[in-house]
Amino acid sequence: TQTSPELQAAQAYVNEVYETVKKRNPGESEFHQAVKEILDSLVPVFAKNPKYKNNAILERIVEPERLITFRVPWVDDQGNVQVNRGFRVQFNSAIGPYKGGLRFHPSVNASIIKFLGFEQIFKNSLTGQPIGGGKGGSDFDPKGKSDNEVMKFTQSFMTELSKYIGPDTDVPAGDIGVGAREIGYMFGQYKRLRGGNEAGVLTGKGLTYGGSLTRTEATGYGLVYFTDEMLKTKGESFAGKTVVVSGSGNVSIYAIEKAQQLGAKVVACSDSNGYVYDKNGIDLETVKRLKEVERKRIKEYVSTHPSAEYHEGCENIWNIPCDIALPCATQNEINEDAAKTLVANGVKFVAEGANMPSTLEAIEVYLSNDVYFGPAKAANAGGVAVSALEMAQNSARLAWTFEEVDAKLQDIMKNIYRNSVNAAEQYGHAGNLVVGSNIAGFLKVADTMVAHGV
Ligand code: GLU
Repeated sequence: TQTSPELQAAQAYVNEVYETVKKRNPGESEFHQAVKEILDSLVPVFAKNPKYKNNAILERIVEPERLITFRVPWVDDQGNVQVNRGFRVQFNSAIGPYKGGLRFHPSVNASIIKFLGFEQIFKNSLTGQPIGGGKGGSDFDPKGKSDNEVMKFTQSFMTELSKYIGPDTDVPAGDIGVGAREIGYMFGQYKRLRGGNEAGVLTGKGLTYGGSLTRTEATGYGLVYFTDEMLKTKGESFAGKTVVVSGSGNVSIYAIEKAQQLGAKVVACSDSNGYVYDKNGIDLETVKRLKEVERKRIKEYVSTHPSAEYHEGCENIWNIPCDIALPCATQNEINEDAAKTLVANGVKFVAEGANMPSTLEAIEVYLSNDVYFGPAKAANAGGVAVSALEMAQNSARLAWTFEEVDAKLQDIMKNIYRNSVNAAEQYGHAGNLVVGSNIAGFLKVADTMVAHGV
């Protein structure tokens, strides 16, 4: 199917735009990777619909509307002045206010923020909610910082960020290193600076000040709801399956919880130092205590579960044989070799809870070995989808029940799955959810950009 003259011309056009992206954003390998994955998927769209090329939609969509960087000075517990760098990329506002998380991690730079923001455009579109794409964060490392230091840093961060955000313009939330505590401090600072309570300016808020029930669980639960749809397509279910979940943060914890509720045996999870293998099945209450309450390393798991094994080096978690792999840690955590090992050990399903956890080469390995693959922007969209529901509740000044939000989340994940399957089929790549989700996410944004004019 790759041989028609229309497809060849479309591929050449897409390659040309990709080369421009590389030239304009030198050295930003994560951003290049995210752009490449999406652009290659869109080839059949450009072969069929000349209007997108005529409106230069591709050239426009790869360029952020705005990239803000700022200085974040703060005073640590010893009285020393520290300086970090803050970012916010306001990537695309065609279908709604910029929406996307904030990441606090030493690896954060313009490339990481742009890859995340670019992905967010299509993910947010897929949710069916009116939200554009954005992302932000800082190279601040929360590891080992006291509560007071985290508060000082986040207040300084928000002092600058507050100039660029608002409930109808740009609505940040959490990501790696940003959870309920950080959102609370940032909301407090925003309110102080504005002199008013604009509940919808952040999502992932605490339940006492405008947060939504189910938001904490949403990304992990949504991932499992999405994977369940994949399983059903193949006549399977979670019951009795062996599952490996990387990470032990918010996404992993609630993915493990829902997978266990559906009868799966989750045998491993990890943090950036190493992984735990528990052949009896991971005891989630222990993981929650270590990570959500005590903020300790996953290594501590074995002190109360001596029959479990702890191994240094989180990347080796993919050596564990499993039916279903749910990477929920970070970008590029599964490379080509890890993907080959998973395949050799019999994995049948891979669905991504983290953003871009599989390299382009790893994805090739899945697709050429009949592994059914659920890409991040579809599979982990439940978090941002419930963020949009939180915004809706804030606008209406009311709060829905857990059951109401959970039911809406299930519907949203089913729709994302269905729309991705249909788009893949319609554009000649049946069964390929990478192509399907990229196309389905793109079309809504692209049609809106055409409608809005240049
Ligand atoms: N950081 C999450 C994501 O990658 C959630 C963003 C949000 O809720 O705005 O989609």
